[in-house]
Amino acid sequence: MNDCLFCKIEKGEIPSSKVYEDEDVIVFKDIAPKADVHLLVVPRKHIIGLNDLLPEDQALMGKMMLLLPKLAKEQGLENGFRTIINTGKGGGQEVFHIHIHLLGNTSKKSLPFV
Ligand code: 5GP
Ligand code: ZN
Repeated sequence: MNDCLFCKIEKGEIPSSKVYEDEDVIVFKDIAPKADVHLLVVPRKHIIGLNDLLPEDQALMGKMMLLLPKLAKEQGLENGFRTIINTGKGGGQEVFHIHIHLLGNTSKKSLPFV
């Protein structure tokens, strides 16, 4: 997927502020943060979105879910955090490589209710 932004970030062709990486997953700061902390949790594998997941992706997606509270703690989000997966244009997805937004405020202020 040569024209995929997150594949380019995954390959290091486009710079990003990476906070975590392993053999399956990379995590970097959103370029336009919507909270004090706004990370994007992205599988190295190019998967377009939730509608495109295969049974073989179950462990990978589970791994990403278990990573979220660890990242939140590392980022100082002791007060709680929000996770979002946008799916399709109608769901507000802009980058068609699946990712989980991890958002939170380091101060006591809460995120607005959705
Ligand atoms: P989506 O709307 O697809 O769920 O989220 C895409 C996110 O990627 C947006 O929050 C947007 O700010 C972020 N984004 C877009 N381009 C870049 C980029 O070049 N670098 C980084 N780090 N984030 C980006
Ligand atoms: Zn991709």
